Amino acid sequence: MGRVTASLADLPLRDDLRGLSPYGAPQAPLPIALNVNENTHPVPDAVASDILDDIAVALRDVNRYPDREFTTLREGFADYLGHGLVADQIWAGNGSNEVLQHILQAFGGPGRTAFSFAPTYSMYPLIAKGTGATWVAGTRQPDYSLTPDDAAAQVEDADPDVILLCAPNNPTGTPLSLDVIEAVYEVSRGIVVVDEAYQEFAPHDAPSALTLLDGRPRLAVSRTMSKAFAFAGARVGYLAADPALIDALRLVRLPYHLSALTQAAAIAALRNSDVMLGMVEEIVEQRNRISATLEALGYTPHESWSNFVLFGGVSDPASVWQQLYDRGVLIRDVGIPGHLRVTAGTEAETTAFLEALASIGSAS
Ligand SMILES: *Cc1c(COP(=O)(O)O)cnc(C)c1O
Repeated sequence: MGRVTASLADLPLRDDLRGLSPYGAPQAPLPIALNVNENTHPVPDAVASDILDDIAVALRDVNRYPDREFTTLREGFADYLGHGLVADQIWAGNGSNEVLQHILQAFGGPGRTAFSFAPTYSMYPLIAKGTGATWVAGTRQPDYSLTPDDAAAQVEDADPDVILLCAPNNPTGTPLSLDVIEAVYEVSRGIVVVDEAYQEFAPHDAPSALTLLDGRPRLAVSRTMSKAFAFAGARVGYLAADPALIDALRLVRLPYHLSALTQAAAIAALRNSDVMLGMVEEIVEQRNRISATLEALGYTPHESWSNFVLFGGVSDPASVWQQLYDRGVLIRDVGIPGHLRVTAGTEAETTAFLEALASIGSAS
């Protein structure tokens, strides 16, 4: 066998993929990893063993293809979400990234446009372009919020086929009011996806976009088990929408896309949702401590309804990121000038981050 010596430029790659970079949050084995908004609390032992029992049962039938319709799991998500939702209104995939890819495969694609308001989740343009759509980014207010009038005007102007609204927004943590979603829906003709990956970290009285689903057949609300549920490694995301929209996703998914082991694990985790979500309050407390301490250190943390904090006032983000790295703390440089983003960890991890940052010196 000869060595592989070709570069991408030598291969018959799609022209629209040339020059793109893959998703690349660094995966470094540091003791304190607060860079990708995971729930850093491990799955409790009792829950882990309950999940394992169900996986063991599923494993005995793994010679057969899994339930292509993942019916029990869809029922579980409908129950968990409430709002009178039923299984026909639920979809799921290997992470909400796959769910978003299904949306873009079905409703985006070549000759079509996908739209969001930057800065936002870095995977949106990658999934949009990977499925052949043109990517258009709108703008936010200086504090990263959106107003109904401005958001609607930008959407009307871009006339997109798929609109992605991140609520609360990653990487800024900014809440999104339902007014904005309603206004954008009114002026659009495309699919409006509200990505509520961090909804469980929002104030308890903050309404979900799920309350808007009735009578809006182009609206979809996506969620994930990767963040609050402490299940990122299992890869499970889901979505609620009109049954017709769900049917469209069946056209593009690969058959049996959710393995029997994934379905078993997710069903068992959902059954233990009280315990799985038991860490959320503690994480919110750490998030608030991060914001207060950053402010005391002279940085400018942005309002966050998620499990992370974006903070400004960093004169040299690359250098601060590296100095934290050298102290065993991994956070995220999201490419916003003067800013860094940190995930709220356990109390001990959060303390380690705050002490390491304080030891580097104060804000610019
Ligand atoms: C983390 C995150 C997700 C979750 O992706 P999964 O594929 O479910 O792990 C989705 N949307 C946003 C905005 C996120 O930050």
